[in-house]
Amino acid sequence: MLEVVTNSPEETRALGRKVGESLKGGEVILLHGDLGAGKTLFTKGVAQGLGASGKTAVVSPTFTLVNVYEARLDIVHVDLYRLGFDEVFELGLEDYMDREHVMVVEWAEKAEGFFSGALLEVNFQYEGETSRRITMETGGLELDLELFGRPCP
Ligand code: ADP
Ligand code: MG
Repeated sequence: MLEVVTNSPEETRALGRKVGESLKGGEVILLHGDLGAGKTLFTKGVAQGLGASGKTAVVSPTFTLVNVYEARLDIVHVDLYRLGFDEVFELGLEDYMDREHVMVVEWAEKAEGFFSGALLEVNFQYEGETSRRITMETGGLELDLELFGRPCP
């Protein structure tokens, strides 16, 4: 497990960028943490790290639950905040679980057990107005990720 404290929104975004740069395809990044903890900001960093150009597709009948961003590897950004466990199955996320995509899921705990494979779990904890404690855990995922001089285990 890797644990860092970021002291500004920019540091959290930079952390996401580092992660994005190290992705190889097929990874699923599960984000946990309260509203305002920094999950979306981190995701923007990941997209930046993958060289995302802009939003290219929105897949949702009523409001935006799944966004796809075109990049070195296409990024599938999912926010499960408003969903129940059963509804997660209706999103058709299986279609995106391949080597050409990476998936980033906010409120991943809503679908505990649904995601499998190359998982990276990231926890965001509010520490202070501008600081967040961020822990990352890989489950069988090999990331060439060096953060603050230390390799990510
Ligand atoms: P979430 O998606 O988890 O609800 P957001 O990324 O949308 O959270 O929002 C995080 C908010 O917290 C932003 O307004 C951001 O400016 C602020 N913030 C302050 N300090 C930090 C930090 N160290 N890391 C991330 N966000 C921070
Ligand atoms: Mg968010």
